[in-house]
Amino acid sequence: MECRDYRKYFRPFWDGELDHVERRALLQHIDSCKACAEELKVQYMLREGMRRLEYGGTLDLVTDYGKVMEEARHRTSVERAAYIMLPLIALSAIVISFLIILGGIVI
Ligand SMILES: [Zn+2]
Repeated sequence: MECRDYRKYFRPFWDGELDHVERRALLQHIDSCKACAEELKVQYMLREGMRRLEYGGTLDLVTDYGKVMEEARHRTSVERAAYIMLPLIALSAIVISFLIILGGIVI
């Protein structure tokens, strides 16, 4: 994917509409692409700055941007871990159920 493909994710990213796969791809891209990282940050400053001017709140947007991005990275890693673990948990439940049923038949 190219920068313009990732930039289509920016608005959905700020609106919380990306799934963990799309969010992870975007976060990995901005780690290696300074231009997109800067553009994403500018979008945050504009959106959040306008919102806070209208509704109030501190204007320490640089600090808040760091916190928001840290939360996005954390949420993405948690959702990814759950996505990977869910089939294993389901499989374990099936195996345990099978063993319980089998144990009931044997006894
Ligand atoms: Zn880029």
